[in-house]
Amino acid sequence: MAARKKSAKLFRCPTCGMLVRAQDEDFPFCSDRCRKIDLGKWASGVYKISSPVLDPDVLEDLGGSGTDRGGSRDN
Ligand SMILES: [Zn+2]
Repeated sequence: MAARKKSAKLFRCPTCGMLVRAQDEDFPFCSDRCRKIDLGKWASGVYKISSPVLDPDVLEDLGGSGTDRGGSRDN
């Protein structure tokens, strides 16, 4: 293994994984295109907010008919 000293820190483009330098114009992306792709992902909900969505409505919908899994136990 050759340990080379690097003067510039390298980062990876979040979109395509290409190496990007911190002083690059489009940092942290390798290009304007990748920046837009990333923004698009956010916009279209590919990246979700961390916590799972447990909407009461959704749960009701799933439990639908006869929700009796240990039902009368919540008092
Ligand atoms: Zn990229």
